[in-house]
Amino acid sequence: MRGLPVSAVWHPFTQHGLEEPIPLIARAEGAALYTREGRRIIDAISSWWVTTHGHGHPHIVAAIRDQAERLDQIIFAGWTHEPAEAVAAMLVEHMPAPLAHVFFSDSGSTAVEVALKMALGFWLHRGEPRHRILTLEHGYHGDTIGGMSVGARGVYNQAYTPLLFDVETLPFPAGDGAATLSSLERACAGRPAALILEPLVLGAGGMLFYPPAVLAEMRAICARHGVLFIADEVMTGWGRTGTLLACEQAGIVPDILCLSKGLTGGSLPLAVTMATPALFEAHWSTDKARMFFHSSSYTANPIACAAARANLEIWRDEPVLERVALLAERQAARLAGLGGVRAARRCGTIIACELGGAGRDYLAAIGPALLAFFRERDLLIRPMGNTVYLMPPYCIDEADLDTLHAAIAEAAARFG
Ligand SMILES: *Cc1c(COP(=O)(O)O)cnc(C)c1O
Repeated sequence: MRGLPVSAVWHPFTQHGLEEPIPLIARAEGAALYTREGRRIIDAISSWWVTTHGHGHPHIVAAIRDQAERLDQIIFAGWTHEPAEAVAAMLVEHMPAPLAHVFFSDSGSTAVEVALKMALGFWLHRGEPRHRILTLEHGYHGDTIGGMSVGARGVYNQAYTPLLFDVETLPFPAGDGAATLSSLERACAGRPAALILEPLVLGAGGMLFYPPAVLAEMRAICARHGVLFIADEVMTGWGRTGTLLACEQAGIVPDILCLSKGLTGGSLPLAVTMATPALFEAHWSTDKARMFFHSSSYTANPIACAAARANLEIWRDEPVLERVALLAERQAARLAGLGGVRAARRCGTIIACELGGAGRDYLAAIGPALLAFFRERDLLIRPMGNTVYLMPPYCIDEADLDTLHAAIAEAAARFG
């Protein structure tokens, strides 16, 4: 037995047995984190894909402070409050029609659970029960049992695999996506309930990108067969791919849309599952047995909703998409000059490449060495196996971007 840990905290996705140092962050501002000792660390992954405008945006901070003084928490079953009403109304206005109904929850995983439950309820209440869910190879939809069930199987869920429900997995849309489209066409003939996917970017699967045309065609096939189309935009939403939603680039609207991460600008946990009137109406009745049976204690927490409202106001009042476009351009220019890496690619503000030997194994031996390499340079870059990516907040400046790209080039030279 090793010595007792100095902290009682059990960290997520962390192997404590490796005794990796766990830095303590004391404050954050813009694209930077600061340790207690005052070291400045560049947040190259937006604190795990949540921070959009930058840490501590004054408008969001003020909204949180103000709401905390007014109303901290209230049951949301049969009660409502102003921040939730405002967020729902603004979402309906900002997101494409006919996504007219907003169901609140607390995280990306719960937004996905809600989406799956809505889809199954839809079919049951239509008197045509369907349970089969279609997914994409390498997909990721969260770490709850339902989220893991519709996501890729791997080392990260092998202990739980016997409990996960069966899904039908379509091949990742490589090239022109023909294999994916034909297997979707075949799968739809079996009358599945829904297809769930990450539009344009499979994040946790290794920053794998596929073209809008394939996304548009998948949507069209689902529509033709009456299969519900669930877009998990938990990561891709809020500008990451260059547009507010990734779906926009394919000119499509899903039946169900999952949003979280950047919903509060990355400040507080909150999620929404948006649905079309058909989904809502399938549950609408005078019969209590047909209500949507889902809730959690903190559903639509007023403080989190106030942060989300402030985020939506920033999108309304500030040139966010121009910042996104500028960041995308700056990433592209630097990526073009990045030597020694394989499979360099970009989607909107996100860039990714491969270092070291072949294989995208999450536990690739190079992973911890790379993580340590970047940490020593005061950079929060968290490789997935040998995939290195940057997904910075939109406020990051050119000097910090230069530092990040130079570090990747140095890592490429070191790790080959
Ligand atoms: C992060 C993520 C989730 C899970 O969100 P949590 O808030 O971590 O539960 C679900 N889907 C996608 C696409 C994600 O990137």
